[in-house]
Amino acid sequence: MIYDIEYETMPREALESIQLRRLQATVSRAYATVPYYRKKFEGAGLKPGDITSLNDLQQLPFTAKQDLRDNYPFGMFAVPMDNVVRIHASSGTTGKPTVVGYTSRDINTWAELMARALAAGGATRGDIIHNAFGYGLFTGGLGVHYGAEKLGASVIPISGGNTKRQVLIMKDFGPTILTSTPSYALHLAEAAEEMGVSFKDLNFRFGIFGAEPWSENMRREIEEKLNITAVDIYGLSEVIGPGVSIECHEAKSGMHIPEDHFIAEIIDPATKEVLPYGETGELVITSITKEAFPVIRYRTRDITSLNAEPCVCGRTMIRMNKISGRTDDMLIIRGVNVFPSQIESVLMEIEGVEPHYQLEVDRKDNLDTLTVRVEVSQGVFSDEVKELQRFGGTIAKEIKELLGISAIVKLAEPKSIARSEGKASRVIDNRNI
Ligand code: ADP
Ligand code: ZN
Repeated sequence: MIYDIEYETMPREALESIQLRRLQATVSRAYATVPYYRKKFEGAGLKPGDITSLNDLQQLPFTAKQDLRDNYPFGMFAVPMDNVVRIHASSGTTGKPTVVGYTSRDINTWAELMARALAAGGATRGDIIHNAFGYGLFTGGLGVHYGAEKLGASVIPISGGNTKRQVLIMKDFGPTILTSTPSYALHLAEAAEEMGVSFKDLNFRFGIFGAEPWSENMRREIEEKLNITAVDIYGLSEVIGPGVSIECHEAKSGMHIPEDHFIAEIIDPATKEVLPYGETGELVITSITKEAFPVIRYRTRDITSLNAEPCVCGRTMIRMNKISGRTDDMLIIRGVNVFPSQIESVLMEIEGVEPHYQLEVDRKDNLDTLTVRVEVSQGVFSDEVKELQRFGGTIAKEIKELLGISAIVKLAEPKSIARSEGKASRVIDNRNI
């Protein structure tokens, strides 16, 4: 179902004229109210009036996570605190959290975008949404919550954690849509199994998962274990929270970006040059409707590419491909660039390997070394030591063959790697850089 037929299927030309008008308004307001933006624009010799076409966006300076940190906590707000009704913060996965604010119109925009997203992911008014994204400063829980209410679905605000209780509620309330991180979805499946509850007997139809990278192979694993169709949802607090893009369940191939609210670009992270559709680089987003916390050319550090081809679902909004990783998660192992999700992808192809793993990176003599700790099934684990060694060797060989990097593989006992209730922490980085 398309929640907002008018906007989501708008012809490009009409969309672009809306985008330009909104971009101009955003730039003017940011210039007038946020000292950071005024200084940045002046430094580049720009005035808001210089933006006369969408192409002029490329003249504007970038905004980086560090800029937000320098203005911690409220320095980037474009409205007085009187008009701010909500404050959130990023999870702080990669350092000091950044703080964001919303006016009541922003909260409404976000709810609309999340209603669109949930509908694209298969939800209708008749659905019961088991929302296991964490509620709190993290945007996941409340983002889904407001969207679900806006859509008119029933939402169970279960949040993350207390996993056994979650399983009982899933059994008793019969939710039809699960929203959580992909890693927590697997944890729920495992807990259910231990409690003798089969997902086959539950009512779930769709799962809407995001907040962390997950590979196509992980999707297959989850779809099979949970007996659902799984779609990917993307977002970041700096931009608005979840709902910055979502896969439609019809295509499950790239996440539609609501371009009437956000303009997306892909840049080469090294040269900062804007790349054409189809090429892979860092996603940069400009918000064009936000009031309290507008972002202009915000460098997300997430790696993806854009796809402007028409989609079977009828939406005209461009799609971004699955995030392969964050620029700051990229490992350089003996000169080869690799993202954790690529390693995940290889692991998930191997029979007997469980979807729980951890990567540890060290640096010795200027070279990165990678240790992969991965759980294996009970069957494999009860094999003889020699068999286990051979199995570890096979995994290392696959990683070498497919990614070209050498890794030390350590097999872990089933259920020995800590489970996450939110974002999984998969990379332990011991490098001092
Ligand atoms: P933090 O950067 O501290 O984790 P957020 O909680 O705002 O802050 O999380 C946003 C980040 O989470 C994104 O920039 C991205 O790296 C990651 N993320 C969110 N959704 C997805 C997704 N569907 N696939 C991959 N990564 C995602
Ligand atoms: Zn689509």
